[in-house]
Amino acid sequence: MLVHRSYKHRLRLTPEQEVLCRRFAGCARLVYNSGLEQRSLGYALTGQGMSYMRQTYFLKEVKADPAFAFLREAPAHVLQQALRDLDRAYQNFFAGRSRYPKPRRRGEHDGFRFPDPDPKQIGVHDPARIGQVRLPKLGWVSLRNCWPRLGERLFEGECKNVSVVREADDWYASFACEVEMADPSTPERGALGLDAGVSNSYATSGGERHHLPVLTDSEWAKIGRLQSCVNRRQKGSRNREKALRRLARYRHRASRRKHDELHKLTTRLAKGHALLFAEDLRVKNMTASAKGTVQEPGVNVAQKAGLNRAILDQCWGEGRRQLSYKCLWYGSGFHIVNACRSSQECSNCGHVAAESRESQAVFRCVACGFERHADVNAACNIRERGLAEHRAAQAEAEASAAPAASAGGMPVPEGRKTRRACEGRASSKTPETPGPSRKRREQGTGQPVPQARAIVTPLGA
Ligand SMILES: [Zn+2]
Repeated sequence: MLVHRSYKHRLRLTPEQEVLCRRFAGCARLVYNSGLEQRSLGYALTGQGMSYMRQTYFLKEVKADPAFAFLREAPAHVLQQALRDLDRAYQNFFAGRSRYPKPRRRGEHDGFRFPDPDPKQIGVHDPARIGQVRLPKLGWVSLRNCWPRLGERLFEGECKNVSVVREADDWYASFACEVEMADPSTPERGALGLDAGVSNSYATSGGERHHLPVLTDSEWAKIGRLQSCVNRRQKGSRNREKALRRLARYRHRASRRKHDELHKLTTRLAKGHALLFAEDLRVKNMTASAKGTVQEPGVNVAQKAGLNRAILDQCWGEGRRQLSYKCLWYGSGFHIVNACRSSQECSNCGHVAAESRESQAVFRCVACGFERHADVNAACNIRERGLAEHRAAQAEAEASAAPAASAGGMPVPEGRKTRRACEGRASSKTPETPGPSRKRREQGTGQPVPQARAIVTPLGA
């Protein structure tokens, strides 16, 4: 199985190399922003768009202009890739995936990319240069190998391109590779439901509760102090720049701490379970501002803003993205289940009542008296709903495969059938599918219980 993976290492640049990196990033930004302006203006004047190829032709002209001679100091590929990025931004905009491209600003996502992995361009794995990479116009750059299992190598598989990016004060090199991974065998491991929350980042149906190291109150207070320090400084001054760097460093450290923990958690979950079920969270809708309009101002705006911040701090979307691609790597299934009222449903008898949820943490069923941590109870419900849906999808796939086999078609191998059943969007229910969820629904109180839903989650990047 060929998968795309990237290996990111922190660079140890010499002062001269750092100056060059900043310069290259600046040139790439200038080309991107000029290209954006050219496309916008061109469209306003002529009503015509502009292609990437046409813009590279203009790039050649600009580089010949003595006023822009500094562009010739930057590697040619880096500038072309900036226009390539712009072209992709436009494609995303026209496909409705993102908003209209905005100009890049200094200090935000500074970086550049070398697209050509040719050894003449990029030198790696030289026995005389262990832990170093040769980049065009930068020479040999040392890096801190933060992948101990790679040993002396910097990446696995075939390198496709190298990006150099700045995060706070550090520069990183990211090697985008195509890696051949062993085909995952159908694992004999259990199924797990996951409930995402704010007080517990993830509760599992196995009873575990995981908490990501998000920013604490005192850390938020420190960020506030650092920010007010920035605000006191005069715009454009050296001291303001220093204060901004202090703030960026502090936030970056906290972000690395959280993402390290999230990666460890998602790897463990994907490796340890054959099926993972998570709830279908619409983070964008959940974190909408309560501000309202000038005519009709909203209520509890500050509280809602605090809740929004807490939700966004939990990285639910990123956790889901990581699980979706890691499950593919390790041969597990990852499914999104409709979790409507899963926190009010009893995982023992199936009774749905808002009163059962006594507090944020305590769930005590008003029908059967069953007591459990509220988040774990919700995770159990998600697991049951996911399993019921999974069985239905499997039965449907088997039913559709049977006539094809009897008609002389190729029999579908067992493993593939299961995989397809996992990935297919199943909407209709098979009546013969028993399952705890269905049984419980029949015994239920007549309240509508939402149907579980399996969706194909998009593969992670
Ligand atoms: Zn109950």
